Amino acid sequence: MAYRIGIDLGGTKSEILLLGPDGAEVLRRRVPTPKDYDEVLGVLAGLVRAVEAEAGVTASVGIGIPGTISPATGLVKNANSNALNGHALDADLGGRLGREVRVANDANCFALSEATDGAAAEASNVFGVIVGTGCGAGIVIGGKIVEGRHRIAGEFGHTPLPWPTLDEIPLRDCWCGQRGCLETYLAGPALAFECDGAGARDASSIPARAAAGEAAAVRALAVHADRLARALAVISNVLDPDVIVLGGGLSNLAHLYEEVPRLMKRYIFSDTFAPVVVKNKHGDSSGVRGAAWLWPVG
Ligand SMILES: [Zn+2]
Repeated sequence: MAYRIGIDLGGTKSEILLLGPDGAEVLRRRVPTPKDYDEVLGVLAGLVRAVEAEAGVTASVGIGIPGTISPATGLVKNANSNALNGHALDADLGGRLGREVRVANDANCFALSEATDGAAAEASNVFGVIVGTGCGAGIVIGGKIVEGRHRIAGEFGHTPLPWPTLDEIPLRDCWCGQRGCLETYLAGPALAFECDGAGARDASSIPARAAAGEAAAVRALAVHADRLARALAVISNVLDPDVIVLGGGLSNLAHLYEEVPRLMKRYIFSDTFAPVVVKNKHGDSSGVRGAAWLWPVG
């Protein structure tokens, strides 16, 4: 099937996109995500059929979710939208549509989108990082998502901040129960906390304040960039990616693309390493495009 449908199943909103054989967008719809699992299945099946009828085509179907399907049980786990947890989303929707449906983690879909026809389209070893309200990542090698045996590959946000400075110890507590997780240092709320202290969660004003010379904002951005550089240096020591693509709200911070590669060199175990850190090409559409690309080219 040359036509591909991608669905980005979010906690409150879901988006469906039909890609043509050349990867161009044909149709796009956005709907509220129901709270009830059976309603989710009904809405998604109805959307797929409506999009196909409108375009006059039949398409493959891929879904990106904020969680993963456990290889042990075949059921969704770790999804923020609780309606999905404990259900076999791929099999259930596949049953309603009468065809195989593929499901993947939304950060993995982001990385796949950018590796397929986005900012890392020429690269074979791609690390895609989403830094927004949370922090997640995906690995794509040779055009395929590396999910890992337990489908946790790329769980970047819940690995610890490397090479902590003395004033970073003790490391922060994370909601997941561990201490020092990168999400608590790199995500938007963490940057807001760094600049404006406890209770601050919105980092959107910080770049303009830094540009205007506010010392706290300048310092917060510098500390944040150094922490991101350390984190990506560890990834580079393990994976040595061709390209690192940033997504999520904080990928709009223009200074990261110069500062982070420069800072990474201090930490990487190589004297010739030239990190390539680029901004995503498809923006908020990468999740839904990556879901469509779960059915690969050719
Ligand atoms: Zn954590």
